[in-house]
Amino acid sequence: MADKTQRLEIVTPERKVFSGDVRFVVVPGVEGELGFLPDHAPLVSALAIGVVRVQQEGKTFKVAISGGFVEVRNSRVTILARTAEREDEIDRARAEAAKARAEQRLAAKTADIDVVRAELALKRAMARLKAVS
Ligand code: ATP
Repeated sequence: MADKTQRLEIVTPERKVFSGDVRFVVVPGVEGELGFLPDHAPLVSALAIGVVRVQQEGKTFKVAISGGFVEVRNSRVTILARTAEREDEIDRARAEAAKARAEQRLAAKTADIDVVRAELALKRAMARLKAVS
């Protein structure tokens, strides 16, 4: 049982980010984290901005995603994300700059600031930083 794996695919409109056999995957569902082992019951859920944690044979890694959907069926987990970056692809300086920019906009509170847009940018930057931490 402990050796069982399931297929994980992570794709965005632009590219395939990951494809491989994994033991366990945790995704940021809109109502909280969801964890999947092989043979999980079929499920479709919306995903929030956050971090996907993947456990493979002997190693774990993280992927930052900025929302999307997950489908689980027949020991196959498919994540369709708006954007997704594996932790080794994340430009930490870029994420830190995006975080600082969003925080400045939110702190300024001037009428021309799109608060929701700044909050989403902040969440994306924080997810990327969490994935590389
Ligand atoms: P920024 O303001 O730095 O562009 P953003 O959150 O607005 O950040 P997105 O619109 O989510 O960026 O993503 C645009 C593209 O850039 C996507 O392909 C995404 O994967 C990539 N990307 C964004 N930030 C990073 C990062 N820190 N490291 C690597 N790739 C990134």
